[in-house]
Amino acid sequence: IKKVMPIPKAHYGGRHTVTLLPGAGIGPELMSYVKEIFRYAGVPVDFEEIHIDPNSDTNDDLDYAITSIRRNGVALKGNIETRSKDVGVISRNVALRNELDLYVNALHCVSYPGVTNSRQKNIDLVIIRQNTEGEYAMLEHESVPGVVESMKVITRSNSERLARYAFEYARRHGRKKVTTIHKANIMKLSDGLFLETSRKVAKEYPEIALSDMIIDNTCMQLVSNPHQFDVMLTTNLYGSIVSNVVCGLLGGAGLLAGKNYGDHYTVFEPATRNTGASIAGKNIANPIAMLNAAVDMLRHLGHKSHAALIQNAINKTVNAGIITKDLGGASTSRDVIDNILKCIKQAQN
Ligand code: ADP
Ligand code: MG
Repeated sequence: IKKVMPIPKAHYGGRHTVTLLPGAGIGPELMSYVKEIFRYAGVPVDFEEIHIDPNSDTNDDLDYAITSIRRNGVALKGNIETRSKDVGVISRNVALRNELDLYVNALHCVSYPGVTNSRQKNIDLVIIRQNTEGEYAMLEHESVPGVVESMKVITRSNSERLARYAFEYARRHGRKKVTTIHKANIMKLSDGLFLETSRKVAKEYPEIALSDMIIDNTCMQLVSNPHQFDVMLTTNLYGSIVSNVVCGLLGGAGLLAGKNYGDHYTVFEPATRNTGASIAGKNIANPIAMLNAAVDMLRHLGHKSHAALIQNAINKTVNAGIITKDLGGASTSRDVIDNILKCIKQAQN
């Protein structure tokens, strides 16, 4: 594994082009805020915006999006819809991650002091989740009427490169402990392989402690004492559950961002990947998660000062209590954006 994921070269003048996939629900309005803030802050990034028609029976739009990400190396993404309920039509979000081999989903979960109604305070943990296999293989069939089988696929190679990513991350960021989350007491072969592989990789990182925990106990421990965790290493579905629990403890779906990494491409998006169809177009969606994803992207591209400028404006706004209803605040999406713009202006003067 490369120690640092590859960063696309800038064009002449230091500008980058990034693929923008607004997706469905609140995706388009959140992306319009990102564009507005980037323009205001003078960020040297151009977007190649691609809309994926949710009603289309073909995957032409998705193929085009994937080609664009291959060219640009980096994307910012909302949640893409797949309307078809047919078995065999796979989720476009899953297809995109698989096609680009984005085998790592990394979430850095940090509390905001300004979110005063959060259920737990002072959380600072990292979730490293397998992102391309496990329970998301989408290989299901009805073997005889009334009997359905679903395949969960765990491979040594994916488990190993994910574990290596987790330990490299821990080493780079001075983290002390990795906890493997599993259900190897029941799924002895599949989760057993995932757990065994993490133990093998851990031997190469003697300065980092390895522990493990069963997924059900993990959920209970997270709710009652999340501070015991440092880096969590998990399979795909458990990772989804654990991510949602942690985001719920910190302030919900609208706050944190996630990164999808492979050896060649990186896709940034809100941590819990929600569509938010029921709150779209109402000026109530929390824009912070998508903005955090955009800031992560800037940092990845090496635009450090722009990333810091926007990050500081976001943090000041949230910690001043200018937050949307989902976080217990009284501000609209627009109020939050206006205050972020104000903070950027103040910092530039
Ligand atoms: P999914 O896309 O998985 O169906 P939903 O879109 O239903 O998930 O989102 C789950 C919940 O989180 C909903 O209650 C939704 O309103 C809320 N939610 C998601 N994103 C945001 C956001 N950015 N701001 C506020 N609430 C959000
Ligand atoms: Mg929904």
